[in-house]
Amino acid sequence: MSLIDWFAARRKDQFVGKVSQDTDEGDGLWVKCSECSQVAYRKDLISNFNVCSNCGHHNRINSDERINIIADKNSFKEFDSSLSPTDPLGFKDRRAYADRIKESQAGTGLRDGVVTGICSVNSMPLALAVMDFRFMGGSMGSVVGEKITRIIERATLENFPILIVCASGGARMQEGMLSLMQMAKISGALKKT
Ligand SMILES: [Zn+2]
Repeated sequence: MSLIDWFAARRKDQFVGKVSQDTDEGDGLWVKCSECSQVAYRKDLISNFNVCSNCGHHNRINSDERINIIADKNSFKEFDSSLSPTDPLGFKDRRAYADRIKESQAGTGLRDGVVTGICSVNSMPLALAVMDFRFMGGSMGSVVGEKITRIIERATLENFPILIVCASGGARMQEGMLSLMQMAKISGALKKT
């Protein structure tokens, strides 16, 4: 077993996956802290914002959990959920980019590494973009950049505040220059706010 495979197997033992705000569906009632391995009741850990009550470790929060923490209950309306990445360079390193996309989509239920939409917080409107580290390290390719740009433009149009939760390892190298240009595009949209 390679070192990378060992880390992948280790991560599988930790809690990953979707967590519903008010049900126990998903990965079971009990979860294990990724730092001290203390087993906790899932609802208790979520109500403590995924901070371990035993060791104080801040366990990872995925996009669903983050939205549930920020938004008023059932207020989040997602935009551009059908946007899906392509493989413009036919990129392949140890594995093909197209295969990595499929694997991340299957593992997360997301099309790409950011979820965007409008919600309310204490009944006040908020445009929200939440990156998800589970999807290829939250890296920013064409789809992530486009969705963030669109939600910034929507917030500007509606005169809503915008909150972007960054959980990203950086640009998605598999899309090359197309990834790097997303930063300029987002900066341009922010300049117009
Ligand atoms: Zn812990």
